[in-house]
Amino acid sequence: MSQTTTQPRTLHVPADLPDRIQHYIDGAFVDSVDGDTFDVLDPVSNEVYVQAAAGKKADIDRAVVAARNAFQHGPWPRMLPRERSRILHRIADIVESRDARLAELESFDSGLPITQALGQARRAAENFRFFADLIVAQADDTFKVPGRQINYVNRKPIGVAGLITPWNTPFMLESWKLGPALATGNTVVLKPAEFTPLSASLWAGIFEEAGLPKGVFNLVNGLGEDAGDALVKHPDVPLISFTGESRTGQIIFGNAAPFLKGLSMELGGKSPAIVFADADLEAAVDATIFGVFSLNGERCTAGSRILVQREIYDEFVERYAAQAKRVVVGYPHDGDTEVGALVHPEHFDKVMSYIEIGKSEARLVAGGGRPDAFPTGNFVEPTVFVDVPSDARIFQEEIFGPVVAITPFDTEEEALVLANGVRYGLAAYLWTNDLKRAHNFAQAIEAGMVWLNSNNVRDLRTPFGGVKASGLGHEGGYRSIDFYTDQQAVHITLGAVHNPSFGKSAPPQEVAEAAEEEAF
Ligand code: NAD
Repeated sequence: MSQTTTQPRTLHVPADLPDRIQHYIDGAFVDSVDGDTFDVLDPVSNEVYVQAAAGKKADIDRAVVAARNAFQHGPWPRMLPRERSRILHRIADIVESRDARLAELESFDSGLPITQALGQARRAAENFRFFADLIVAQADDTFKVPGRQINYVNRKPIGVAGLITPWNTPFMLESWKLGPALATGNTVVLKPAEFTPLSASLWAGIFEEAGLPKGVFNLVNGLGEDAGDALVKHPDVPLISFTGESRTGQIIFGNAAPFLKGLSMELGGKSPAIVFADADLEAAVDATIFGVFSLNGERCTAGSRILVQREIYDEFVERYAAQAKRVVVGYPHDGDTEVGALVHPEHFDKVMSYIEIGKSEARLVAGGGRPDAFPTGNFVEPTVFVDVPSDARIFQEEIFGPVVAITPFDTEEEALVLANGVRYGLAAYLWTNDLKRAHNFAQAIEAGMVWLNSNNVRDLRTPFGGVKASGLGHEGGYRSIDFYTDQQAVHITLGAVHNPSFGKSAPPQEVAEAAEEEAF
């Protein structure tokens, strides 16, 4: 049995919830063209607390017209980087000053524990601050051929960026795309996840207050197959930055192909944490508990497979299971809660079905169902399966909940085969005190990001992205600037013009020499 808060307080409804959630297009809140709405539930009562506008193609068309107009005729793409940076810093200030309210709403809408939602709100502010700084420090390449030619790179915003985001840490993940897209002078249409539209609707007020010009930020709510699909297929949206499931990424990849759009894909994961016998066991247990149970396990970089060297396997399993049972499941708004409620009953059913599958595939040593103290709501006990074979579904498939698979290994070679033996390749966590092994293993592992003797602590300057089914392309730091800009090469002749003169009967040797010089 996992621990639960001793006196559970039931649903906490934040004051002043909106009475409806609308789109935000060209500086105004609007309903859908056809008036359609969809239900939004809170994950504790699973009751509908608000209706959100259900956007379709007509709403996306309106939003893209506004964003395109702001891009072609508005001030935003033409502002000096410093001017845009000031507005981005103001956005960060406002987000920071409202972190408690943002966390309260996010926690209510998504089921994330309030303390973790607060951390995510602060991270959202930091994302804006980071790109506000980066854009004024931006330098571009120049290449010189002395006395003959100079070439420089002219970096330009691309146009209307389509941003499609998932429901896990929604506000923070939106900031991750909005920050660099806006910093570089693009205009945007954001399509947030339909399970959690509440916090996204706050961006509009924050941006207005910070002085972002009208039409630069547009928001269309709605289902993926309607609003998301229309955004991907819109001919005037040259860029799509998508975070979500690998399966959805494949669909979007196909739908964007006829338009040859720029795509950034942050997709699913089944990341391994590999614990060698020489590791600091206590730190490894702490980190691997946090790595899969924080953010309710609804975390793309969750270390959801733990591979443990045989010499320490039994001790690790015993300590891990004991600690997992002490993880506090509770109401999302309660400051003591470590695992809150999963986002939606559909997702709860999916996670529960994997737990049932796991019971037939491996040995259950902690959790395994709904906590007794929570007969309703999307609450799941932190669940630990051990002796999990590598062909088990709970080893291979992304569960995206507080469920972990632990598997023993004997040799480094075996650990590598197990670590790489899934379709995903997002993150990996290595626990060892052997320096050579750590670096060689990191080199060999198929993962976009590796942490050595560390939890998922990310420096915003580093590339973020996955390999294999976990993603396409990298964002983070300058890579985000690369994604959201075109790099135009401008070539200037400094000396005499070296033209191969056609039609003047120049001797072939002279033509060849001139052509060769041009190739510099
Ligand atoms: P999802 O793929 O179901 O939905 C993500 C977004 O795509 C939503 O806004 C949805 O409405 C939209 N969408 C769905 N179908 C679409 C379509 N046909 N065309 C256009 N848009 C469409 O993902 P989810 O369940 O919201 O999020 C969980 C997934 O996200 C997990 O797989 C997780 O690993 C992944 N994720 C990855 C990262 C990362 O950086 N790699 C970060 C967070 C989450």
